[in-house]
Amino acid sequence: MGGDFMDGIIKQGIEEIKREFDTEVAEGKNILVTGGAGFLGSWICDVLVESKANVICLDNFSSGLKENISHLLGRKNFKFVQHDITQPIFFNEEIDIVMHLASRASPFEFEKYPIQILKANTLGIWVALGIAKKHEAKFLYTSTSEIYGDAKEIPTTEEYRGNVNPIGPRSCYDEAKRCGESYVIAYRMQHGLDTRIARIFNTYGPRMRAEGIYGRVVPRFVEQALSNKPITIFGDGTQTRSFCYVTDQVEGLLKLAFSERAEGEVVNIGNDREITILELAKLIKELTKSSSEIEFHPLPKDDPMRRKPDISKAKKLLGWKPEVELEEGLRMMIEWFKEKER
Ligand code: UDP
Repeated sequence: MGGDFMDGIIKQGIEEIKREFDTEVAEGKNILVTGGAGFLGSWICDVLVESKANVICLDNFSSGLKENISHLLGRKNFKFVQHDITQPIFFNEEIDIVMHLASRASPFEFEKYPIQILKANTLGIWVALGIAKKHEAKFLYTSTSEIYGDAKEIPTTEEYRGNVNPIGPRSCYDEAKRCGESYVIAYRMQHGLDTRIARIFNTYGPRMRAEGIYGRVVPRFVEQALSNKPITIFGDGTQTRSFCYVTDQVEGLLKLAFSERAEGEVVNIGNDREITILELAKLIKELTKSSSEIEFHPLPKDDPMRRKPDISKAKKLLGWKPEVELEEGLRMMIEWFKEKER
């Protein structure tokens, strides 16, 4: 990976997104993407660069990777700034849109870096909103399904207020993201900023990290299955998630950022097909033709039992819906992992 090489599956994905997203709205716009070297951030940078926007990608590589953006470095409409968004930063050029994606997002990182996670979504969003205010830019915040905590309303609509443990192991992420939303609303109320909040549900796809503290369930299971190591299920595997392929997610985020109708809105973006973690493990085992054993480990504290978005608002407001079936998305992710390991 890296250099000028852009992986075939990613390239194909970017083309898919461009077919669904009206790229003309982005052409010539100056867009700041915080966390631009991360999983979702780098996909967004790719689509925006291809849409002829002028992209400023900001990242401190706390969880993002140089190799996600190295192929963009020579492009004239792409600029990279290595910076920690919790520290003030000033731009001389005009900025039309700020997209704040910077944050670690893996539960293992919650244990190791809770303070940085709190800062990215409180101090970090404050700096990012300050930039938007100064430049009179639109603002997109990538919030999360985690603000609902262990939701008691399934499928979960945007009206649900959440069931979050303020002092549990996930609090640094859940409460920081809730605080981030509160910052967005405050800047909207006090300064009249044009804001949009996306509540992102579990997303997977190429460029997701599998290793160590960065690994989320899908890349972990794919890597375990491909190397015929035990697939590690936490708990009995009856907990559920609803997995959205990255191209669907990125298309939804871009539509939310650019749609005139979406000003001031808060919108769930995800796939509403719910699956248990045990079913996911079996599916990945089957698709990879793996001989991995399935191994059961203790369930982490406060691990939500069910997660499934109600996406009717996104469908209606943005004319968006997820298109990629789980099996198809997993096949692409598996192919990408195999290529990467070569
Ligand atoms: N999980 C698992 N085995 C793993 C990693 C995760 O069973 O090796 C479970 C985890 O306990 C959770 C679900 O998979 O119930 C999704 O985990 P992920 O890390 O992707 O993030 P979450 O959705 O909990 O934020």
